[in-house]
Amino acid sequence: MNKRIETICVQGGYTPKNGEPRQVPIIQSTTFKYDTSEDMGKLFDLEASGYFYSRLANPTCDTIAKRICELEGGSMGMLTSSGQAANFFAVFNIANAGDHVVASSAIYGGTFNLFSVTMKKMGIDFTFVSPDCTKEELDSAFMPNTKALFGETIANPALTVLDIEKFAAAAHEHGVPFIIDNTFATPVNCRPIEWGADIVTHSTTKYMDGHGSCVGGAIVDSGKFDWMAHKDKFPGLCTPDESYHGITYAEMFGIEGAFINKCVAQLMRDFGCVQSPQSAFILGLGLESLPVRMARHCENAQAVAEFLEKHEKIAFVTYAGLPSSPYYETAKKYMPNGTCGVVSFGIKGGRKNAEKFMKNLKTAAIETHVADARTCCLHPASATHRQLSDEELAACGVSADLVRFSCGLENKDDLIEDIAQALNQI
Ligand SMILES: *Cc1c(COP(=O)(O)O)cnc(C)c1O
Repeated sequence: MNKRIETICVQGGYTPKNGEPRQVPIIQSTTFKYDTSEDMGKLFDLEASGYFYSRLANPTCDTIAKRICELEGGSMGMLTSSGQAANFFAVFNIANAGDHVVASSAIYGGTFNLFSVTMKKMGIDFTFVSPDCTKEELDSAFMPNTKALFGETIANPALTVLDIEKFAAAAHEHGVPFIIDNTFATPVNCRPIEWGADIVTHSTTKYMDGHGSCVGGAIVDSGKFDWMAHKDKFPGLCTPDESYHGITYAEMFGIEGAFINKCVAQLMRDFGCVQSPQSAFILGLGLESLPVRMARHCENAQAVAEFLEKHEKIAFVTYAGLPSSPYYETAKKYMPNGTCGVVSFGIKGGRKNAEKFMKNLKTAAIETHVADARTCCLHPASATHRQLSDEELAACGVSADLVRFSCGLENKDDLIEDIAQALNQI
């Protein structure tokens, strides 16, 4: 029986047996005990499933990974220490030195840096394309050594909405998987696998945790990309891994399990970006209320965006829930119940007035964070993008007057009153 999102959020991944705890137990143990060395050997050879060391697998983390996997409609999932680790692992699992990846240019700044600076140093080249590019522009970005296409459902902070079907189709025509970061939409508002995405990543730090408590990440494989059909492109999955007793992941774990099993067996083993069982438990608590919270975040953001759009001191508002947004129709198609709680807008009078406005806010707090239960906002020109001149800011799509406003779960009238009084003082 296919359960609906709300049910998976509270029950997914964990079905206690008679007399077992109702809530997911926190297995706070680095290691697990076995009766014979032979038993343990089978685990090391990946011939038997079980736990032996929490860098590779832990029951609490696995339970929450299963829940997120069910939410996304995937075949297998894993948790990572952060969203950064999730995106790094998802790409590095299939791209090596000498390979190439195509990515949307409208992605999280940390991911852009990871790709264009750090992974470039590892010998992987990236070509960035506009999320709004034509099919021809997208096609021309692919090369013979391209191993993946990457994008974000709703980009942080640009708030562009990706045409998922277009991107997935292009990736598949070129014989590579489409990896999508679904952090801002969450599976409550969008399930990219249903639209053709192959691998979904998350910074669970944002809405999934939702309370500003734990940094974390997740990767979900759809189990639909046929690695063996593109054997030459993906030797890491389709030929024996000498660092793991010569097993071939695509043969041993099949189409549903190859990607995540390789990612754990190689990348988690060697890089160790694990989420702690405590963090996974807190993430699980966050997931329980995700559908209720997303609805409120979106309701608040819609009200704030509509208020701002009518205000004389506001230069522009970016929110896909506004009919004036160029992404309104795309958002309606992929996210009929709402997009996310983040709105960005410009204040007339540029940098000076944006800074004044921020200082005047009383309910909204200035933070380098989004998707918290408490409303937070950031003025990129004086924080994350501080070193850039107004011209340089414009070149990366961030104007000097731009404010990124992440609506929390407060009463929307309180948020609007706070914004109104802060604008009145400038
Ligand atoms: C925050 C964020 C990340 C990075 O996640 P961390 O948990 O901070 O490492 C990646 N992608 C998106 C869309 C994000 O918003």
